[in-house]
Amino acid sequence: MIATIHSFSLNGLDGFPVTVEADVNKGLPSYELVGLPDAAVKESKERVRSALKNSGFSFPVHKITVNLAPADLKKEGAGFDLAVALCLLKASDQLVTNLTDGYVFLGELGLNGDLRPVNGMLPMLIAARDRGFCQFILPKDNAKEAQYIEGVCAYAAQNLKEVVNHLSGEALLSPVQTQSFCIEVDQNSRFGGHDLRFVKGQPLAKRALEVAVSGGHNILFVGPPGTGKTMLARSVPSIMPDLSFDEALEITKVHSVAGTLGEKGIVTERPFRTPHHTATTVAMCGGGTHGIRPGEISLANGGVLFLDELPEYKRSTLESLRQPLEDGVITVSRSTGSVSYPADFMLCAGMNPCPCGNYGAEGKRCTCTTAQIRRYRDKISGPLLDRIDLQVEVDNVRYDELTSNREEEPSEKVRQRVNRARKIQLQRFEGLPIRTNSQMGEAELRAFCALSEECDGVLRRAFEQFHLSARARSRIIKVARTVADLDCSEEIKPKHVYEALSYRTYDKSDM
Ligand SMILES: [Zn+2]
Repeated sequence: MIATIHSFSLNGLDGFPVTVEADVNKGLPSYELVGLPDAAVKESKERVRSALKNSGFSFPVHKITVNLAPADLKKEGAGFDLAVALCLLKASDQLVTNLTDGYVFLGELGLNGDLRPVNGMLPMLIAARDRGFCQFILPKDNAKEAQYIEGVCAYAAQNLKEVVNHLSGEALLSPVQTQSFCIEVDQNSRFGGHDLRFVKGQPLAKRALEVAVSGGHNILFVGPPGTGKTMLARSVPSIMPDLSFDEALEITKVHSVAGTLGEKGIVTERPFRTPHHTATTVAMCGGGTHGIRPGEISLANGGVLFLDELPEYKRSTLESLRQPLEDGVITVSRSTGSVSYPADFMLCAGMNPCPCGNYGAEGKRCTCTTAQIRRYRDKISGPLLDRIDLQVEVDNVRYDELTSNREEEPSEKVRQRVNRARKIQLQRFEGLPIRTNSQMGEAELRAFCALSEECDGVLRRAFEQFHLSARARSRIIKVARTVADLDCSEEIKPKHVYEALSYRTYDKSDM
């Protein structure tokens, strides 16, 4: 007898329906699983066998063929266990019901019949809903991911037995209650407790951060160790625009697939990722041999990727950031095709001014040779540096600043100005495929960043004095546009250009 059960799978963040078919026939006992299963899917046989037995059912001693359709798409993970088990029960007449047709079944089985959570539940539910499926049975530990999705009726079960009882009408499961999305209001626990009001001094660096976040620009802090570069970077999510529900869902999708979703079932804060400098290109950009996982840049989607000690990272790893920094998407190739993950993040980087760290620091002596400093800085390629609009020097905070009782401005205040500047940009770019000043191309620069003669004069003098590159010019104008937006000024004024010029430490340095 043949039975079919609906399930679902993912390719990147896109879902596709999978029909599990089981044929249980008289003949020598055997078990064959077809339909491009990966190793984890193949191992489902042993899990399903034990789960059935330990739930009070029998594993059919017949010739069994299980097919996962469509046959041409690779099936990954253990999420089909539940569907396979139910299919076998139906095909062997241990479960007699037509109710199964109305559901999509997702979940891994433990040997004792318990249902275990699977990664990627949230994107699967959304994709399945968009394809017209509306009823789901899933593991209890995945229930939290179902509660924010409209138009989905999900039933969460603890084990296989509960699912069978629900389908046979013996004991019905209750549907997962939907929740409305809300952002944490407790200011003390928000953003992991990081806030600009805890960063003493550094007014210039804080202002640079405000400009960077406002215009969606990437930023590099150059300064000796211990100047608080990390603390500044950690505060970035706290001044980024408030998260909308749609953005939260997009961010949650990636974390759901990666299995890095917390207890809440939805991300309520912008991510802050800080991969170690030994991170491989795969860890950074995604990939892997056994099932593709999103990398750090995708986990940072919608938030911040912080790379401290930038020159310490492998050059090949840094180079791999160039394309996603441009496109906001990363495509990972593998033998059965390619997978795309979003990678729209703000790059925030820190580095020492020289190998010993003291170059240019007040009251300290640098022991590096010019050649050493040059080699150190050359580790960061020009094309990557070109994607970092703001390069800012930070110096040690003076003692009296550290000990002063002066109240520092809280992140919330800064965020209000950022929100205002972002709104101006949204209006400016209405109907265009870009949202922030950093994304402007040459056409937008001409349309929205007309320079007065006076401003042009300022730029011209800077170019001659500091030998700036042509590429640096458009970066400076973009940043000047953002500074003007923060100033609520339609027109870019000389003071905005001056400020933008102050954020080009690297270009101006004599190294
Ligand atoms: Zn040095």
